[in-house]
Amino acid sequence: MKTFLIYIAALFLILIFLPAAIAGDWWRWEKTAAEIDHLEEEEEIVPDNGESIVLKIYKAGEGQIVEIEMEEYLTGVVSAEMPASFHPEALKAQAVVARTYALRKSAAGGGDGCQSHSGADLCTESTCCQVWEDESTALHKWPAEEAASYMERIREAVSSTRGLVATYRGDLISAVYHSTCGGKTEAAAEVWRSSGMEHPYLQSVECTYCRHSPYYESEVALTFTAYAAALDSEKEVLPVLAEDQAPLLEVVERSPSGRILLVRVGRPGRLYSGNKLRELLGLPSTQFTWRVEGDKIIFSTRGYGHGAGMCQYGANGLAGEGKDYLGILKYYYQGIEVESCCSLSGFSGGQDENAPAQRAEASYQPAVAPADMMDAPYFRIAPGGQGG
Ligand SMILES: [Zn+2]
Ligand SMILES: [Zn+2]
Repeated sequence: MKTFLIYIAALFLILIFLPAAIAGDWWRWEKTAAEIDHLEEEEEIVPDNGESIVLKIYKAGEGQIVEIEMEEYLTGVVSAEMPASFHPEALKAQAVVARTYALRKSAAGGGDGCQSHSGADLCTESTCCQVWEDESTALHKWPAEEAASYMERIREAVSSTRGLVATYRGDLISAVYHSTCGGKTEAAAEVWRSSGMEHPYLQSVECTYCRHSPYYESEVALTFTAYAAALDSEKEVLPVLAEDQAPLLEVVERSPSGRILLVRVGRPGRLYSGNKLRELLGLPSTQFTWRVEGDKIIFSTRGYGHGAGMCQYGANGLAGEGKDYLGILKYYYQGIEVESCCSLSGFSGGQDENAPAQRAEASYQPAVAPADMMDAPYFRIAPGGQGG
């Protein structure tokens, strides 16, 4: 009987431990999971307190270059580029994206600086670099009773991600973003075909998290007269309307995400990029269809902006569903890492004048920055102002 009990005990032990041993390293698995948890916690909460980077910023309003410390500069970018009422994790994602964009362009990060204003790392023009506003401008645009808490939210988003940047295989990413994708973001290769910009981390991803944006679906109505006038500078396309007043407009090519890449305007007509027609007609995006109603052409559009990279309203929606800023960034920029800029190999923090050049040779590619890379911030055009 005693022998039998020993057999039962031995069998019991084998049944319990053998599968775990076969599955491999079960004891290590537990340790690794704990380590991963620890690492994730660390990555989430440790801002970089390394040396500060001073940027040369061309202030469009004043027509001069001023020096602003990176984190201070970012406060002005986040307040200008995203509604302060957005979720704190969305604001943090915006801070990391804005920091990455700025560093990649700056001399400290090995970039070529602002392409429009020599001697400046960045300018404050929406059509060139990132929009920036000073604190008093920000405080005055917000409702008086919210202003102090809004500024606090922005400062918290910047300071809690201090020094953190997005990288792909060790290099700063081209951190483009836009207001609202309207269902799917766009691959950079489709948006900037002419400049040949393409990155593995800037692919199209599904996004319905921006449904709360006023631009998720919207309409622009143009009278035939207004439509013809908008295209009037483009004489080669005339006539733009057929005898029956139907618009002479034909989609030649759409991207897989549904945005118009090429369109034929007029008769015999001329090919335009979707971006060009969007600009001429003042449409919020290249994702549109049209119909005629009476003496008007109604353009039904989805989204606002070029659609590449982070969808800002989508970031807010994802944050509302529980994603933190790392999850948001890794959703829109696939395959990236978020790390401290001061830990990047060869990075000097902008203090050593020789280092940026070395870094540029070693691993940095010149920043590809078409003039229209950064869309004008939507709230300047959107009715109802900031936060709409
Ligand atoms: Zn610029
Ligand atoms: Zn979206």
